[in-house]
Amino acid sequence: MPQEIDSVFEHGGEGVGLFRTEYLYLSKDSLPTEEEHYQVYKSIAERLHPKPIVIRTLDIGGDKFLENYHRDEQLNPAMGLRAIRFCFREKEIFKTQLKGIIRASKEFNNIKILIPMVSGIKEINETKKIIDECEKELNINSKTPLGIMIEIPSAAILSDIFAQKVDFLSIGTNDLIQYTLAIDRLNQDVTYLYEPAHPAVLRLIATTVKSAKDNGITVNMCGEMAGEVLYTPILVAMGIDALSMNPVAIPFIKEIICNLTLFESKAILDDIMKFEDCKTIESYLKEKMHKKFKDFSFIF
Ligand code: PEP
Ligand code: MG
Repeated sequence: MPQEIDSVFEHGGEGVGLFRTEYLYLSKDSLPTEEEHYQVYKSIAERLHPKPIVIRTLDIGGDKFLENYHRDEQLNPAMGLRAIRFCFREKEIFKTQLKGIIRASKEFNNIKILIPMVSGIKEINETKKIIDECEKELNINSKTPLGIMIEIPSAAILSDIFAQKVDFLSIGTNDLIQYTLAIDRLNQDVTYLYEPAHPAVLRLIATTVKSAKDNGITVNMCGEMAGEVLYTPILVAMGIDALSMNPVAIPFIKEIICNLTLFESKAILDDIMKFEDCKTIESYLKEKMHKKFKDFSFIF
């Protein structure tokens, strides 16, 4: 939310790694106009400048719905007409948002576009085509960096190809965990299976980071996992360039990063990548962190 920007600065943030835009659509009865998009993005970019803001395009249809656009009876909304799939079907809604972003980006060069729920190359090509269309119609060449969320296993697996097509990757672990482990993130009965340190999830993250590095682009993490101190050493050791989190978590994560050497983190990563299950990984991480950060035991 725009009113959280002060909190980003107060907690030592270096920008906004994930600006969710759904609230613009859900806070009123009519759809936001291009001008409304532009005004919101412009004001935030201006306040953050020169620090970056990553604007994620509309991710509706998983747990939030737009009246008149979604059927009520979807049994599996998380796998349904969500995010970029919805935006392709409602192209005018998508273009209206993109045009607002492009106009703001032309004025403030700290804006980046992030596309949610990409599962295949076609979606990247189609998105680029639509962005080009918007720029032509606006007569603007904004050169806004384009990134995709890696939150579906197919995207992580194909990240070596995707990384050649975009400017950055952002790992959305909330959904990556949901789709990799087949756990409905809203279903209380299976919350116990929601494991960020599941070896399969860690391998997908490592694969994604490697793809980004091999192609010379940046890779960020914007799921909740990025703000959990227990995982900081392994995420840093893997080579993630930026971690996006709730502002209140920033000082704790910084404390961990500043007090661990890369050598120590890499040793921890090497060990845990050999383990077979999440429980062993978690206990090992806890033990290491308790030893290293006796003063911080309250946060584990
Ligand atoms: C994610 O999936 O990790 C993410 C950041 O997006 P959201 O939680 O909005 O689905
Ligand atoms: Mg997501």
